[in-house]
Amino acid sequence: MSNLDRQAAVTVCGGRGFVVAEPVRELLSPRRVRLGESTEVRRLLPNLGRRMVGAWAFVDHYGPDDIADEPGMQVPPHPHMGLQTVSWLHEGEVLHRDSLGSLRTVRPRELGLMTSGRAISHSEESPRDHARLLHGAQLWVALPDAHRQVAPHFQHHTDLPVVTAPGLAATVILGTLDGAVSPGTVYTPITGADLSLTGGGEARLPLEPDFEYAVLSMSGEAEVDGVPVLPGSMLYLGCGRTELPLRAVSDAGLMLLGGEPFEEEIVMFWNWIGRSQEEIEQAREDWTNGTRFGEVKGYDGPPLPAPELPATRLKPRGRMR
Ligand code: MN
Repeated sequence: MSNLDRQAAVTVCGGRGFVVAEPVRELLSPRRVRLGESTEVRRLLPNLGRRMVGAWAFVDHYGPDDIADEPGMQVPPHPHMGLQTVSWLHEGEVLHRDSLGSLRTVRPRELGLMTSGRAISHSEESPRDHARLLHGAQLWVALPDAHRQVAPHFQHHTDLPVVTAPGLAATVILGTLDGAVSPGTVYTPITGADLSLTGGGEARLPLEPDFEYAVLSMSGEAEVDGVPVLPGSMLYLGCGRTELPLRAVSDAGLMLLGGEPFEEEIVMFWNWIGRSQEEIEQAREDWTNGTRFGEVKGYDGPPLPAPELPATRLKPRGRMR
């Protein structure tokens, strides 16, 4: 999925000033955003109170939605740069097409990982014949300066490592968790994991004290470090933890997101991550002119036009919010 906001804002984030060095419990509420005609998502990042968690720069949670009699997800071709997109499903399926010619159906608990590098475009849609329910998360990982010009590529991993403990199965989506490593290519020290908890169970998850973390709830009733986190909300946990206590009141599905704090200041606009307003303006010009981002073949409909840039110039930000 993507950012389809017609009134897109320029967001500056990254930098140590945003990171909480010690363990905290900061509950983040979602912002409801309409995507296209039928889909509404809950946006957790960027959030008014928090822009990034490690290199994780964008988190949308959607569904479960009954799309039996609807087209479901229909996101026309649009461009990306400077980031990786992560598609993660609990229900349903998403057909991915991109300007490299990839054509893949991503299913529940499979990793769809698209590395935009300097430029790519893609579309995402529910296939014509689809499951009744659609439930998932769309996430972006910011690429560090040293790697943000890499050649674009798409990876589809159907067999991910699973770390188990009584009452817990943790699928490693990206990076490392408890010594298990995802096959997805990463460019910063990072963790993304799907936590499946059995109702009534308790578990302690080993963490890296140098990472900052957050937990997104996708389903069920669970407590994260003693805090009830309802589906569609996210608990920011800060840094300095060696483990995380989890308790499931009912069967619950969570996502653990973490990573080394992202030191570089980034500029986000629409579906792009850059380092300056000039880079964003250039990307907008290139997409509008049909250059650089390639062409997605096979999607039934025109590509998305880029929104106007706000009239106010991007102002440099201090380290504190
Ligand atoms: Mn996208």
